[in-house]
Amino acid sequence: MQTPKRKFDPRSWDHTFELISWWDAEKVRKAKVIVVGAGALGNEVLKNLALLNVGEILVIDFDTIEYSNLSRSVLFRERDTEGENYKAQIAVQRIREMNPQVKIDSIIGKIPHDVGLGVFRRADVVIGCLDNRLARLFVNRMCHKANKTWIDGGIQNLAGQVTVYRPGKSCYECSLGTSDRQFIQFQLGCPDIARRSMELGRVPTTPLAASIIGAMQVQEAIKVIHGNDDKLLVGERVYYEGMNNDFIRFKTTPIRTDCLSHFTYDPIIEVPALRADLTIAQSLEILRKQFDDPEAYIELDEELISEITTKETEQTHHVLAPKGAFNDQMIAAFQSHPNEEIVITDSFGELHADFPHQDISLKKAGIPPLHIVRVRANGRLHFVELSGDEE
Ligand SMILES: [Zn+2]
Repeated sequence: MQTPKRKFDPRSWDHTFELISWWDAEKVRKAKVIVVGAGALGNEVLKNLALLNVGEILVIDFDTIEYSNLSRSVLFRERDTEGENYKAQIAVQRIREMNPQVKIDSIIGKIPHDVGLGVFRRADVVIGCLDNRLARLFVNRMCHKANKTWIDGGIQNLAGQVTVYRPGKSCYECSLGTSDRQFIQFQLGCPDIARRSMELGRVPTTPLAASIIGAMQVQEAIKVIHGNDDKLLVGERVYYEGMNNDFIRFKTTPIRTDCLSHFTYDPIIEVPALRADLTIAQSLEILRKQFDDPEAYIELDEELISEITTKETEQTHHVLAPKGAFNDQMIAAFQSHPNEEIVITDSFGELHADFPHQDISLKKAGIPPLHIVRVRANGRLHFVELSGDEE
């Protein structure tokens, strides 16, 4: 038994936790945690982080609140379903009411298109509260690039599971079977199908499984924050089934050598002059000076589509959008009938001096604020952060 570190202060939020021998309130107050997904699990995770006085939270979600969310979301109210209210924005408001000492912000958007890698780099731990494989794959790849531990949770009916992925030790992509990989590859090829099957793949969830699994995820996050690495669920998965009260703990697939997730950006070069709202011409000029190479150019993470052709009517259209941004609505505008196939007939993989649209912003080319871009200069690859977006 250890004596409390500080004198009892009835107005201190975390005094009770400090009575736990290993608890370090200072570490928890300084911790930065990213929560991806503000659904049933995300609500529970955010609530727990706020109650534990975790200092800085960033919540990422693109969705709005619907009436059906209320039965599983402790932070949402009936009035939030009137009009368009984003889950992440409302969650931020409620967490601020719950514990004003917590610094919390949101990004209304999707991973990876709307969230720069530099955002992940600044976090101590990432918590995934997701309901589909593709989003998990994106979080896994971003966490590997930024060398961050992430805690995955999943729920279904009265059951759920938790595991911790840490680059070099365990990996979500490695744990996927052959058919899962093929399905994901197919989804990556057709962004719109991906979106549709995400919706089809929805499973029934309960606030009970969300409470239990969300609590376990935050428990793992607290261990990461304290550096209790030997106690973490790395390389293991806990499966909980509520009907029969079964807790099963088993080993996850060992890491493979041929996995596309295993790529860590190192070293990262911070360039404060770079921002996602600069034009490509401005950005290239900065990079040429930075690397003293007149040929320096940016390699895009995602193809930038510049031309599409309708298959039957053979009409060619000029567009400028990253592949992941293509959705049903965009495609429908070009189709002569709803089933007409659209073919990509021109696209860019790099932003260099010959790129014809020099006056568009990096953001328009699919690069989110505070991203870390791959720059080819002096014959090698560099990892350059748009550090001007930090605020
Ligand atoms: Zn892997």
